[in-house]
Amino acid sequence: MTPTIGVLALQGDVREHLTALDAAGATAVAVRRPAELAAVDGIVLPGGESTTIDKLLRIFELFEPLRAALGAGLPAYGSCAGMILLADRITGGTSDQQTLGGLDITVRRNAFGRQVDSFETDLVVEGIADSHETPVHAVFIRAPWVEEVGPGVRVLARVESGQAAGRIVAVRERDVLATSFHPEISGDLRLHRLFVQIVTERG
Ligand code: GLN
Repeated sequence: MTPTIGVLALQGDVREHLTALDAAGATAVAVRRPAELAAVDGIVLPGGESTTIDKLLRIFELFEPLRAALGAGLPAYGSCAGMILLADRITGGTSDQQTLGGLDITVRRNAFGRQVDSFETDLVVEGIADSHETPVHAVFIRAPWVEEVGPGVRVLARVESGQAAGRIVAVRERDVLATSFHPEISGDLRLHRLFVQIVTERG
């Protein structure tokens, strides 16, 4: 069965995720209302600006329904700002910034610093078997990294070289996936395929 996967469509690179999900075999739909959220088998939280998305979630009365859905086990994938929104704990957030939670990690916002605000690198990602031969080309834009992971969280990728070598940039806990980088803008569909597979297996 083709899963229906929502993309939270309040701010950020929504269209890129919709396109990638469709290409990866899902039926992709934009989610702006609680009723739309209730109709999806999984949800993508896009990159963008986490403080803005946090505020819009409350204005659109989606914050509590989405938090409840994640708490009840709705599969989710967050890229960049989406990773921040899924994190249980955040450092470097604004004073009133809240997260939805669901992922037992601490993220550091804008972690890579000014000199390397945006950069690209190749990664081996656990769960993407052929990334050993053909690495995932990862695009980072004012990205967070994962500072701490809880016992149930699997580290899927770390930066391999340079100043930030060893930093955790992809994780999975149960059916929740998060990356510091943006596969939706690189044209590499493998992370979206992995998420579609997670949602399909759960259904
Ligand atoms: N720096 C942004 C934030 O804090 C995330 C950037 C991104 O999603 N590309 O939300």
